[in-house]
Amino acid sequence: MTWTQVDGELSALPARRGDEPGAYLWLTAGERHEQVTAELFLPAVAADELDSALGIAIGTIHAADGEWTGEVRLQFGRVKDGRGIVSASGPGIDADIRFTLSSHPRDGGFCRHCGAELEVAVVSVITPPDGGVIGTPQTRCGACGKD
Ligand SMILES: [Zn+2]
Repeated sequence: MTWTQVDGELSALPARRGDEPGAYLWLTAGERHEQVTAELFLPAVAADELDSALGIAIGTIHAADGEWTGEVRLQFGRVKDGRGIVSASGPGIDADIRFTLSSHPRDGGFCRHCGAELEVAVVSVITPPDGGVIGTPQTRCGACGKD
């Protein structure tokens, strides 16, 4: 990896691993052949309280030259008004990422039937012993009632 500061996008959703609250994060940084995607669970930090948060997240990092699982140290700077910055270091990733923040799942936050904003349930996360993270955001439309 050659870059140290890049632009990216972060989707942060409330999550829970068993009884343990945290945040389910989907981070995309860099462009094209240097793009890195990380799917992470960050324990003990609320998805809407990332400002100056610090923690060790666990999950999977996908890059053009490989895929890693493990722990990623996250140190957030100022996170405000839908933007923020985070230093991420771990397997396959070591960068300061200036991101736009979304509270929607990565595949969209609006109902494909009626266009209303979707309600997102707390993401139930599993971190298997062999690494990575499994979490599937569940959404529901409060307007038309469809999934
Ligand atoms: Zn709808």
